[in-house]
Amino acid sequence: SKQQIGVVGLAVMGKNLAWNIESRGYTVSVYNRSSEKVDDMLKESVGKQIVGTYSVEEFVSSLESPRKIMLMVQAGAATDATINSLLPLLDKGDILIDGGNTYYKDTIRRNKELSEHGIHFIGTGVSGGEEGALTGPSIMPGGQKEAYELVAPIFEAISAKVNGDACSIYIGPDGAGHYVKMVHNGIEYADMQLIAESYFLMKNVLNLSADELHEVFAEWNKGELDSYLIEITADIFKKKDAETGKPMVDVILDKAGQKGTGKWTSQSALDLGTPLPIITESVFARFISSLKEERVKASKVLSGPAPVLPEGSKEEVIEAIRRALYMSKIASYAQGFAQMRAASEEYDWNLQYGDIAMIFRGGCIIRAQFLQKIKEAYDRDPGLLNLMLDEYFKEIVESYQAALREVISIAVKNGVPVPGFSTALSYYDSYRTETLPANLIQAQRDYFGAHTYQRVDKDGTFHTEWLED
Ligand code: NDP
Repeated sequence: SKQQIGVVGLAVMGKNLAWNIESRGYTVSVYNRSSEKVDDMLKESVGKQIVGTYSVEEFVSSLESPRKIMLMVQAGAATDATINSLLPLLDKGDILIDGGNTYYKDTIRRNKELSEHGIHFIGTGVSGGEEGALTGPSIMPGGQKEAYELVAPIFEAISAKVNGDACSIYIGPDGAGHYVKMVHNGIEYADMQLIAESYFLMKNVLNLSADELHEVFAEWNKGELDSYLIEITADIFKKKDAETGKPMVDVILDKAGQKGTGKWTSQSALDLGTPLPIITESVFARFISSLKEERVKASKVLSGPAPVLPEGSKEEVIEAIRRALYMSKIASYAQGFAQMRAASEEYDWNLQYGDIAMIFRGGCIIRAQFLQKIKEAYDRDPGLLNLMLDEYFKEIVESYQAALREVISIAVKNGVPVPGFSTALSYYDSYRTETLPANLIQAQRDYFGAHTYQRVDKDGTFHTEWLED
């Protein structure tokens, strides 16, 4: 008898996802370019309904029709190579699903190319890492709706659940799913940067020890900030290095790596012309962290201010940092969701922001209580222009801005870099300001380049001869 679904690519993600699917009662065929991974997986799959195959022919013919094939291979050329090896063996109506971290423009292209062959193509974000793949990821599928309907029962079965709701919802046509996954990753960069700045201030200005930091983050995780990233941050501060006995964080080199999805998010913001400063600053913060050798040299040459003790008790400053973090996080999600709106208009995706917030609530790295609030905001007003204009978020940002201003000034006086916090506040102040100094920029552009301007008092396009009289 034939299997209900196939998985290609048996590195950590594919293997775990295949086991997850099998554990929900589906029969699964698996295939990997190099056969050792098939052998290894079969050895670890005793008692499971997993069928190993050793050629694309054997794999494709082992699947029931219409075939459902999930690719979990390296994004980029490997995905094209895998698709090309399968394509001659597929029939019209078969469904290829790419679960890799694929660039959304590749997904748009593949969806178009494959649909010319009558093959459905679903590009889906899968978030939650190795553990999520096995136990319940957040799934963001994009592609033909009718094809998604055929795999929806499987996706819903394997996804994370929050209050009984599956964290898998149809996102939109072609590249929509991968786009949303990309923005998810961008938001993740910003969440991590803002948490890191909070830590840095408490460490350098308040001199908190790793044990104290553990307490603070564990406490924060009980309130508005309740989220996976805050939870693991609390855990991290508890962990001691086996070799030296020091806190693990203190033996880890301060050079942040990246795989590029944050950069893609920023690049898309630049292409769409939408402001995304917090995520972009977070990408830059990783770049500047990786200039370690240069920073070591510069630290011997360039000086900062003498330390200034903050006013208020330690507890008050910690609470101000907590508020600064929550307000900045809100500004960051406001930017991420506004960018999805811009992309939705550009690509005609009809994204449903409340649904997206729903599936971010479980399984994925940015999962957090507060996504429920985003869902509620879009339920109140599906056309909401910016999250900060929603009644719940408006109240928070208005009442927490004083803390954010205070925390940034503590940082500035002490020479502690807080790029995420600073840009979050600038975004808030820019967004709420009726008249920005762009009138001067327009005058300059018109002066040197005759680029013209509009007037505040009448319609039309104007140019001034700036050097006359
Ligand atoms: P990798 O990204 O390391 O990819 C390894 C797999 O790709 C192997 O099965 C490998 O086959 C296959 N592969 C590589 N090159 C080719 C090629 N030219 N032709 C055919 N197959 C090829 O595996 P992961 O499990 O880490 O990730 C799988 C996908 O999931 C990636 O797109 C990744 O970005 C994404 N992802 C990963 C997450 C994670 O936490 N790791 C989280 C979410 C998504 P072989 O064994 O023969 O080399």
